[in-house]
This record gives sequence, C-alpha cells and structure tokens, in this order.
Amino acid sequence: MKYILRHPLTRSAAWRSQRTSCNPRFINTLHQPGDPKVASRRADAPFRLAIIGSGPSGFYTAYRVQSKLPTARIDMYEALPVPFGLVRFGVAPDHPEVKFCINKFDEVARHPNFTYIGNTPIGSESLPFSSLLPNYNAILLSYGASKDKTLNLPGESILSGIHSARAFVGWYNGLPEHRNLNPDLERSDGKAVVIGQGNVALDVARILLTGVDELRKTDITEYALEALSGSKIKEVEVVGRRGPLQAAFTIKEVRELMTLPSVGFEPVPPSIIPQDTSTLPRAKKRLMDTINKGTKSYPLEKNWKLSFFSSPTAFLSSSSNPGQLSHIRFEKTAPVEGTNGDKVVGTGEHKDVYASLAFRSIGYKSEPISGMIEAGIPFDEKKGVVCNTLGRVARPTPEGDIQVPGMYTTGWVRRGPTGIIASTMMDAFDAGDNIVNDWLSGVEFLGEQGDVRMGWEAVKREHSNIGLKAVHWSDWDKIDKAEKERGKKIGKEREKFGTEEEMMAIV
Ligand SMILES: Cc1cc2nc3c(=O)[nH]c(=O)nc-3n(C[C@H](O)[C@H](O)[C@H](O)COP(=O)(O)OP(=O)(O)OC[C@H]3O[C@@H](n4cnc5c(N)ncnc54)[C@H](O)[C@@H]3O)c2cc1C
Repeated sequence: MKYILRHPLTRSAAWRSQRTSCNPRFINTLHQPGDPKVASRRADAPFRLAIIGSGPSGFYTAYRVQSKLPTARIDMYEALPVPFGLVRFGVAPDHPEVKFCINKFDEVARHPNFTYIGNTPIGSESLPFSSLLPNYNAILLSYGASKDKTLNLPGESILSGIHSARAFVGWYNGLPEHRNLNPDLERSDGKAVVIGQGNVALDVARILLTGVDELRKTDITEYALEALSGSKIKEVEVVGRRGPLQAAFTIKEVRELMTLPSVGFEPVPPSIIPQDTSTLPRAKKRLMDTINKGTKSYPLEKNWKLSFFSSPTAFLSSSSNPGQLSHIRFEKTAPVEGTNGDKVVGTGEHKDVYASLAFRSIGYKSEPISGMIEAGIPFDEKKGVVCNTLGRVARPTPEGDIQVPGMYTTGWVRRGPTGIIASTMMDAFDAGDNIVNDWLSGVEFLGEQGDVRMGWEAVKREHSNIGLKAVHWSDWDKIDKAEKERGKKIGKEREKFGTEEEMMAIV
C-alpha cells in the first residue's frame, strides 16, 4: 500500500488548527484522490457502516453519508435503549429549541437503509467490539465522553454532598445511570458551590435557582422537580481558577441567570473585572458588560455570584458531621505574567467557602471502548480522544501517523468534550465526507476489496446470545409516544422514563 506523506507545514494554518492527533509531526493518509494505482469504487458498491453512539455526531455523520451515498447501509449501535445522547441527557430542559435537531435525526433514522440498534453497548461485557469487525466495511466511533474528570482533592470521593455536574445534569434529565443520585437540596445552609465556569456550570446554577413553576413547563423529570420544589438552596457561587476574561461560559447563559425572577447577582468587585471594556473583542466586551451590569437589585430572595482566581485544594467536613461536606478550601491564584491571564499560579493565600453542596463542573472525559485498542485503534489517554486526522483514525508511528483502514471518529470522542451541537455537526460532516470520499476513491477499508459485509444481519446472531433485547426505531417510537402521553397528563411535553427497565417494559 502506498501512503502520501505530507508535512503539516505544507497545510494551511486553518487545517492545522482543526487537527487532533497523537503525533503532530507527519500524516500518512490512505486517501489518494486521482491516484491511478487505486481502482475507484462505484457509488452503488455495497457499503456497510457501523456507527457507535446515537448522539449528534453519529446522526449528523449518518445524514451526510446518506446524502452522498444513498445506497450505504448504516447500522447505529447505542448503549441505551433511547437515542440522541446529550441532546436528551445533557441539554438543559429549559432550552427546548436546542433539541429541534432531533427532527432531523428522526428523518435520518427512517431512511430505508438505516437500522437503529439501541440497548446495545459495544464493549466486552456486552457486544464485543470485535463482533463488528468482520461485518462492516467501516466503523465510526462517535460514542462521546461519558465519564467525569475529577479534581483528585482530599475529601472529594468520601464526603457526601459533592457531585459531578454530569451526574446532576443526568439526574434531572432522566439519565438512568443517575436516577438515584438524590442530591440533598434541603440542607439548612442553603448554599451550593459550582466549581468550573463553563456553560454546564451555569446550567447547574440556573436549574438550582429557577422557580419550580417555570421548570414544570419543561421536560425535566418529575422526580427532579419534586426534589427541587423542596430545595432550600438560596445562594449559588460559581467559582473559577482564572479571571473573568478566561471564563468559558457564554453571554446567553449569563443573561438567562441575570433575568431569572427573584434572583439577584452579587456584583463582581471592580478590581477583578475590566471596567473599561471598549478595547475588548466584541463577544468579551458584551459578556463583561453583562456581568458588570448585573441584576437590577441585589440581594433578592435567591442570589448567585461569580468568584474568580480561586483554585480548590480540599473538601472538608465539620467535627460535628464528619461524613458531610461543610466547606471547601480555595487557594487564591494570580495570573502568570506574559500569559494574558491564561495561566495562573497559587499565591499561598487560602480561604474557606462554607457550603454543604458542591458540584464539580470541570469537564467530561472519553475512554476507549473495551476491545478497541486490541483492534489497533490508538487512543490518546491524556487528551481523552481517539487519535485521528480530521476524523480518520490514525496510528502514530516514528515516521508519522498512518490511517487505520475503515476506522473513523467524530464528535466529542474525536476532539475532546468541548463544542456545541453546531460545531459537532460540522465535525460530523467532515467525517461523513471523508468516509464517502475514501470509499469512492477505492482505498483500503475493513476486509478485502469486493467482500460483501452483512452488517446487523450477521451481528444479530451474536447479539441474541448476550441476553439483551435490541431496541429498533419502531420501539423508540413506542417509548417516545408513551413518554409524550405521560407528559400530556401533567401538562408537559414529555415525561421521560428514568430507568432502562421502564423503557424496556414499553418495548
Ligand atoms: C450538560 C450539557 C449541556 C449542553 N447544552 C448544549 C446546548 O444547550 N446547546 C448546544 O448546542 N450544545 C450543548 N451541549 C453540547 C452537545 O451536547 C454536544 O456537542 C454533543 O452532544 C456531542 O455529541 P456526541 O455525539 O459527540 O456525544 P453524545 O451526545 O454524548 O453522544 C454519544 C452517544 O454514544 C453512546 N455511547 C457511549 N458509549 C457507547 C458504547 N460503548 N456503545 C454504544 N453507544 C455508546 C452514548 O450513550 C450517547 O448516546 C451540552 C453538553 C452538555 C454536557
């Protein structure tokens, strides 16, 4: 096989900045458009693609492949019975407009050459990754980032009252894994601290502070609503290591908090936040102006604040209740000169923030699926991504990266757990284009040239031995209908099932 070896410096800066790879030096690619030694494939040559994960990245890639290669047979494997990944289990219930993409995904799933196989986690305990290899021409890894990053601080894993934002978000959104989280919202100190300053942190703060009558109109789960209606949380502090200009949250989420009825914002001291914002880039200027403007009144019935330049060092309890979080110790930080505030160092000065509830919102993490490494798929543990070049899985070697035939990746497992649905879509379109272009240009995929791969028709024989019932799109239709009916009875768009047993009972 011949590879094209390109030095990245011959690529455009834009191309390089998009690239995620375990080896930043060289790229070998199987893709050789116009190479006369490689026979191209016909557009109607039978092509079978397995997609692992039914979040936006999987669905948008399927959409792109369908539109460019309508004869492609696509099987989408999803660990849970229900589809849509973080669109269902991450996006806040009071952001229903963000979930409109589901309509497009539904169209994709109804394509005659598409099969949804839910309730089927790919990995050794269930359906081994290796079962897909002989049955597909290509596999797309789009399984997101479903683990937490941790701070690894004293007290973090032993005290009660400390949750990951991922678990809390999953709990109020009906993710079965976190159905029994039951955060204690009724403690009398009434204060919660959110560590991290991204949009997920602000989602957590907003859900804690929004009145239940507002939330009742959304698709938040009834059990979460019940717990929130007994909540004593009156104050939420959202803490970041760096300064206001480095915060990752965006203006929409800040504005939503600033306009919540009966919620005040404690002004940020002028010494911490720029007062003259005229020279800042537009987005930062608007964000700083919004924070400086704050709320009309403060304090109100409930309040929130942003704290900057504070890095947590320990979660602590009181001697009267040693198993329960009572306060968090923070070290004051200061910007490192010459880094524009992007880097900070500890100053040695500490302060304790008293709160019996804390949420760690420092990001999600991907891990390799069991059996993937053995199949030759390289995973960068440090970055938590599958090694790839623009979505083509690429194995690092001393000479450069070598594309792994037939393996593609997209979404949060490709580029790390950042980016909204729109950027995930663009990423997925790249992956879809690469898959189709590679296929038509005749380069090596899984198996031999001319092999006919049987996809789900073959895999289902093995699947029947694992004791899990596969959920297909017609089954999801039933779950969807049942959830909507449950919701209708209580004046909501839907009432999600919170356990896999409930979902499967409908199927
Ligand atoms: C709390 C939160 C709120 C957000 N809010 C917004 C918002 O308001 N607007 C916006 O634009 N973006 C928002 N985002 C970002 C958006 O959700 C992501 O960009 C997008 O979901 C990433 O898509 P993905 O397909 O890579 O991953 P995911 O959406 O996580 O999908 C991955 C899928 O793979 C499945 N899976 C995992 N392992 C396996 C396995 N072994 N076998 C089979 N299936 C598997 C998972 O169950 C999941 O369904 C939010 C993200 C979070 C975390």
